Amino acid sequence: MNLVVQKFGGTSVADPDRMRAVADHIARTRRQGANVAVVVSAMGKETDDLLHLASQVSKTRPGREMDMLITAGERKSVALLCMALADLGVAAASFTGSQAGIITDTAHQNAKILEVRADRLRQALDEGKVPVVGGAQGVSTDRDVTFLGRGGSDTTAVALAAALKADACEIYTDVSGVFTADPRIVPNARKLLHLSFEEMLEISATGGRVLALRSVEFARNHDVPLHVRSSFTWELGTMVDKEDLSMEQAIISAVTDDASEAKVTVAALPDRPGIAARLFRAMADQSVNVDMIVQNVSHDGTTDISFTVPMEDLDTSIEVARVLGPEIGGGEVSADRDIARVSLVGAGMKTHPGVAATMFETLAREGVNIEMISTSSIRISCIVREAQLETAVRSLHEAFKLEG
Ligand code: ASP
Ligand code: MG
Repeated sequence: MNLVVQKFGGTSVADPDRMRAVADHIARTRRQGANVAVVVSAMGKETDDLLHLASQVSKTRPGREMDMLITAGERKSVALLCMALADLGVAAASFTGSQAGIITDTAHQNAKILEVRADRLRQALDEGKVPVVGGAQGVSTDRDVTFLGRGGSDTTAVALAAALKADACEIYTDVSGVFTADPRIVPNARKLLHLSFEEMLEISATGGRVLALRSVEFARNHDVPLHVRSSFTWELGTMVDKEDLSMEQAIISAVTDDASEAKVTVAALPDRPGIAARLFRAMADQSVNVDMIVQNVSHDGTTDISFTVPMEDLDTSIEVARVLGPEIGGGEVSADRDIARVSLVGAGMKTHPGVAATMFETLAREGVNIEMISTSSIRISCIVREAQLETAVRSLHEAFKLEG
């Protein structure tokens, strides 16, 4: 019999009616003859609420206790969903991440899955039950409860699909798939029927909010095809797999936007070997996630280095730069929060020259100044003023004729 892993996000189970609708869908999938294993997120905004609660109670917020708290959200969901399934006559059993055999490292709040010991889930399936697993959680090699981080339920679903050798991994969410741009910015954005893992990775890494980046990496590494779809309309969504259909497809698949980063500049650094190495080693040692980097060489033998970091790493990165700067002969450190990134993603650009030129011409026509550029073989990203982000996204979506 076919086995499908179905993951339901927070909005999909936000209230009792939604919870029952999800149970109905699982029951229907079973009636169609498939075995189902389920992963579920915390209800609605529960994770945010728990984080807020913790910040009201404590300044220290030890990681171990934070993970114990946050994973309580998913624990509520699994129990309630199993109850809804029981009402429909579907045998189901709830599991925490730990009970499901999800073994992680010890990095609280952002733990990584090391191994899945899925025998209890297999046993439940053999007994004709639907295992319902709490998303984004596991147990560490130190035997503590761990949280996999925001969006971690996607990763749980992919990891279980890989461990159980499922035939499909369906990610149910509140949008009907991955779009050519954020439909809130571009109303005539089109749903994409198919993406390669590589394209999806670039989309998730540059602001596409549908799938967590780490889950896509995991899916690619373990070759787990994903189907991203809506739990509100149940229509077919976006398939993500290893197939590269770029030869038959448009050159560009999507325009993404991301206003969640800030820019740091360290001025007048000596232009000699080892300086950038020391700066970015110091950032790495403080777990600052550096993204784009540009270096401008001046005539007097000094250089300015600018880089982008997630907003939540900004304070740390400024501090690191201010402390280290003088030691390595650097000048002033400045920060800019009002930047944003607009990106074009498409496997077809590998074989089509001129994409960058068209992108820059389009932005120029709109009076959008480009402050930084970075590329991969299937992506071009530009840093622009945050206030011009929507104009940039709309004009690129139009220039590359991505509309439906
Ligand atoms: N509920 C958690 C979050 O909102 C984890 C997840 O479900 O992906 O990030
Ligand atoms: Mg999510």
